[in-house]
Amino acid sequence: MKRFFLLAALAIGMSAAGFATDKAKVVAHRGHWKPAGSAQNSIRSLVKADSIGCWGSEFDVWRTADGKLVVNHDGVHDGVVIQTSNAKEVTALKLSNGEKLPLLKDYLNTFRKHPNLKVVCELKSHKDAEAERMAVHEILKMMKKKGLEKRVVYISFSLPAVKEFIKYAPKGTEVYYLNGELNPKELKAIGCAGPDYPLYILKGNPSWIKECHDLGMKVNIWTVDKKEDLQWCINNGADFITTNNPEELQQMLK
Ligand code: MG
Repeated sequence: MKRFFLLAALAIGMSAAGFATDKAKVVAHRGHWKPAGSAQNSIRSLVKADSIGCWGSEFDVWRTADGKLVVNHDGVHDGVVIQTSNAKEVTALKLSNGEKLPLLKDYLNTFRKHPNLKVVCELKSHKDAEAERMAVHEILKMMKKKGLEKRVVYISFSLPAVKEFIKYAPKGTEVYYLNGELNPKELKAIGCAGPDYPLYILKGNPSWIKECHDLGMKVNIWTVDKKEDLQWCINNGADFITTNNPEELQQMLK
C-alpha cells in the first residue's frame, strides 16, 4: 500500500513538473535519409522513415515560377533557383541518390501508400509573399484531393504562412511555427498547435514546455541529433522530436 502511494505521488509530481506521460513521437527530418540509397527529401527517404516505424516524415516545399509545388530543402539546387525557375527545369535536377527532384504531387502519392506515416509538411519562406500565400492554398487543395487532410501537420518559418494555414485548413489541423520568437501565450493566441522550435530556444526558456502543455499545446523540438540533447528532450517532455537519427532516438525511447 505504501508503495502504491509512493508511486502515485511520484506520478503526480512528474506530471506537475511538466513531464510527458506519453513517449515522444519520432519525426524523421527530411525523411530517413542516412541509409545507403536514400537522400534528403527523396521519395526513398519517406519510404525508409516508414520502414523503421517513425511517427512522421518531414519534408520541405517550394513553389516554382510557373506555380508547381516541389520538394527540396535548399532554395537553390545545382545552381538552379527554384522560386524563379520553371518546374520542367527543377524536376530534371537529380538528388544525391539519383532520384529526380520530386513534385509534391508525386511525394504525396507515395505517402498514400504508407498510411501509418504522418505527413509533416514544411512550407519554405518565399521571397514573393503572394506566391507563398498561393502555395498554402495549393497545398491545402492537394492534401484534400489526396485524402491526406487527417494525416498532415503543417510547419513553417513564415508567420504569414502559418496564419494562412490556421485560417484555411480544416478545423483541428495542427499548425506549428518554427521561428522561435513567439512565447507560448502568443502562439496560443494565433491558434498554433504549439511551437516547433530549435533546441536552444527551449533550453533558454525552461518554463515554456510546461506552459505550452498547460495551455493545451504540444511541443516539437528540432533538429536534435546528439544523444545528450535527445535525452534532454525526452526528460523535458517533448511531444515530438525531429531528428536526423531516428533509429537512435527510437532505441532511447524503448
Ligand atoms: Mg524542414
